[in-house]
Amino acid sequence: MLNKIEGKNFINGEWLGADEYISVKNPADGSIVGEVPDVDDETILYAIDSAHTAQNSWKNTIASERCRLLRKWKELILENTDEIAKILTLENGKPLSEAKREVVYAADFVEWFAHQATGIIGTSRDGVKPGQKILTEYEPIGVVAAITPWNFPVAMTLRKISPALAAGCSIILKPSDLTPFSALALALLAQQAGFPDGVVNVITGDAARLGEKLCSDFRVRKLSFTGSTNIGKLLYKNSSSTLKKLSLELGGNAPFIVFEDADIETAISGLIMGKLRAAGQVCIAPNRIFLHSAIHDKFVNRLKEIFLKLKIGNGMEEGVEIGPLINQKAVTKALSLVRDALDKGANLVCGGEIVTGCLLKPTILTDCHENMSIFQEEIFAPVVPCYKFDSVDEVIERANNTDYGLASYVFTSNVNISSKLAERLDFGIVGVNTGFISNSIGAFAGRKNSGFGVEGSHLGIYEFLQTKYVCVERV
Ligand code: NAP
Repeated sequence: MLNKIEGKNFINGEWLGADEYISVKNPADGSIVGEVPDVDDETILYAIDSAHTAQNSWKNTIASERCRLLRKWKELILENTDEIAKILTLENGKPLSEAKREVVYAADFVEWFAHQATGIIGTSRDGVKPGQKILTEYEPIGVVAAITPWNFPVAMTLRKISPALAAGCSIILKPSDLTPFSALALALLAQQAGFPDGVVNVITGDAARLGEKLCSDFRVRKLSFTGSTNIGKLLYKNSSSTLKKLSLELGGNAPFIVFEDADIETAISGLIMGKLRAAGQVCIAPNRIFLHSAIHDKFVNRLKEIFLKLKIGNGMEEGVEIGPLINQKAVTKALSLVRDALDKGANLVCGGEIVTGCLLKPTILTDCHENMSIFQEEIFAPVVPCYKFDSVDEVIERANNTDYGLASYVFTSNVNISSKLAERLDFGIVGVNTGFISNSIGAFAGRKNSGFGVEGSHLGIYEFLQTKYVCVERV
């Protein structure tokens, strides 16, 4: 599959090369996986022209046909799970078994939105006088641009393309230049599924230039972005001149709260599940671990026992559970957060150093407090900073003490406590007694500096639709 997409972009149903190229490196050993085009301005314009032309017929394609094509695409994705996963591991570094799970998880979004395509429901109501009907209908918003990050290159691609296509929108996707091949592989399968030319386009190149062109083109009516808060804010600003509809899925700073009555093994596996996927490079990863004083030591000791046994290495090797961070910059950032915490009084329980290259040992810190940078910043690494707490109100206040508002987690067997926290935690997502909260059915959405817009659920498709109100009077 890689040999069919290497060095190419997918525009208007064609696989096109370019004058300039960008190398993609394997984070496990720095070797070159391949090259992708650094598109020029003319090609970006060609992609927008193509999507715009395709939009005119795609929006009139009946919902059952959009559903059929999406389901065909999903079948092809699942049939090619092993090959896509291999590409994903090569460019991102995550263990192959985890990459396979990502493909299966992500394909579920295609299935989900295939069904949503046929379930868009408008309303008809009596008007304000006899003989008048008020119709509220939904129409596709138009050409969509999507920009995705490197941490879940398959999942982020499918979470954006599927609802856009289901809604009747053509799309231009720009994946991260660190991991572009997963999205290109998915485009190859979309072509095989039979989507009309120009409906799905994937382009690669200088992010700032591409972002500027996509934001400033009036024909692009919607921008769906997943990435850092800083870039999200920049795109928000750059989209103002064309008043695009936006979805911004940005960074997080998730609290993970374990009460004294929680089932400790459930909480531990929730933390492992939430924290160690993608080596901790996850927007919903537990970032601040609040442990009730009564169970703090027991929890930390058990976690240390597990961390010391984890196999770290090249994601292609059998049995590896944690792969490398995406690049050296990510390693430096994680280590500087650990250093800052240690300088301010934290205790290093385990880890805190690299094995080799971009492989960071899973790290546990205790005695952490609010004055450390690690409390406010997204860590994006397998580092677990622990904070002790004693009361419900205290932990709610401390958990909410962040500008982010994406995910949060609570572990308790007391329903009064869990319902109070579910109500008072100022986050778009609350996991109660679970560390695995991402699926196609739930409404994945942040608030505050974590952005806005829903992915997944019955609401996700509405991000790509606009209302039309028709007032009909009998004459
Ligand atoms: P990033 O630096 O913001 O990059 C995200 C995407 O934006 C990449 O495709 C990047 O391209 C592109 N980009 C960079 N500069 C741009 C510009 N000036 N104009 C237009 N596009 C630009 O974020 P990242 O480091 O890849 O991803 C990590 C961040 O994503 C974390 O903060 C994480 O929490 C967040 N995230 C959020 C969610 C969510 O659902 N809320 C999910 C996953 C990740 P290049 O990579 O090619 O430069």
